[in-house]
Amino acid sequence: MSPENLQADEAPSEKKNIIVLLVDDQAIIAEGIRKMLETENDIAFHYCPDPADAIEKATEIHATIILQDLVMPDVDGMTLVRFFRANTDTSDIPIIVLSSKEDPEIKSDAFSNGANDYLVKLPAKIELIARIRSHSKHYLMKIERDATFLALKEMQNQLEASNAELQRLSSIDGLTELANRRSFDETLDNELNRAIREQTELSLIMIDIDFFKPFNDTYGHQGGDDCLKQVANAIGGVARRPADLAARYGGEEFSFILPLTDTNGALLIGEKLRSAVEELQIPHEGSKVKSTVTISLGCATITPGRDTKPEELIARADKALYHAKENGRNQVVPAESLGN
Ligand code: GH3
Ligand code: MG
Ligand code: MG
Repeated sequence: MSPENLQADEAPSEKKNIIVLLVDDQAIIAEGIRKMLETENDIAFHYCPDPADAIEKATEIHATIILQDLVMPDVDGMTLVRFFRANTDTSDIPIIVLSSKEDPEIKSDAFSNGANDYLVKLPAKIELIARIRSHSKHYLMKIERDATFLALKEMQNQLEASNAELQRLSSIDGLTELANRRSFDETLDNELNRAIREQTELSLIMIDIDFFKPFNDTYGHQGGDDCLKQVANAIGGVARRPADLAARYGGEEFSFILPLTDTNGALLIGEKLRSAVEELQIPHEGSKVKSTVTISLGCATITPGRDTKPEELIARADKALYHAKENGRNQVVPAESLGN
């Protein structure tokens, strides 16, 4: 072992995790305290003779304890204690006030201004060190707790964000990015219950692309998927009210839930949907209605009774859709026009 190593072994450089800042205008006090602390390997000592620099200095050195004189020129010691407390960087650093006398009134004043401890100058070395260690330890533990709390909070925020994203993804159809079937079922249930509670009208539009099988046959499955995306986008663009929901019901079928909407309103939206798709002007050679992609729509409206089930509304809109197909496609048929 080399002599340097031997020396290093003999005097291990311990980490000084206790950082003392003394604020006192008298250099002789600073010298006395420096002497008391110099034997302690875990304590670093800093001295600030000018109270005007005290807050900046305490922040810069990351003081774990402040020893502060009460009687200094230019600034009243109690005011400085209050300044330390008011500053966010120093508000929690423990302060031991060093007073020239044991006076209950000054003591009480110091504590009420925010000091944590009170010692008469010069205190006994053993007592000073014990108090420095005890206050610093509590402060360091608090910092650690705060950091852990912050980290936990951050993790919790991230978890909540990923849960929200997961929730969003689980309710969205991957191809068209409209609400998926699960979300449709849930929303229809909720809206139906609301309509039952509030005795309001609820409308549903079922939508089906015309001659989509021949479309796939002509343009391929990929071409079909692209068409579905465009049609979905046009359908989604028609939703105006926050409660409206456009969803992919399955395959090349879509649905549109319209709370607080009567038959006329549903017909109007249905017509908007039909023309929005027609306006896309997607070429469709295999269609027997038009040379571009069209949709057929069936809508139904109810003011539900206590026992109305969502299936009833779906069945009525589906039946109307079937009639739209039978009548020549590319049109909206309201279930009400069929006498049911
Ligand atoms: P109609 O006018 O009577 O609705 O005729 P249609 O050909 O559209 O009716 P049908 O229900 O027989 O055909 C629907 C076709 O939609 C069948 C299937 O190949 C196609 N399809 C369903 N889902 C998808 C999909 O996710 N992507 C693609 N590319 N095609 C789909
Ligand atoms: Mg179909
Ligand atoms: Mg179809």
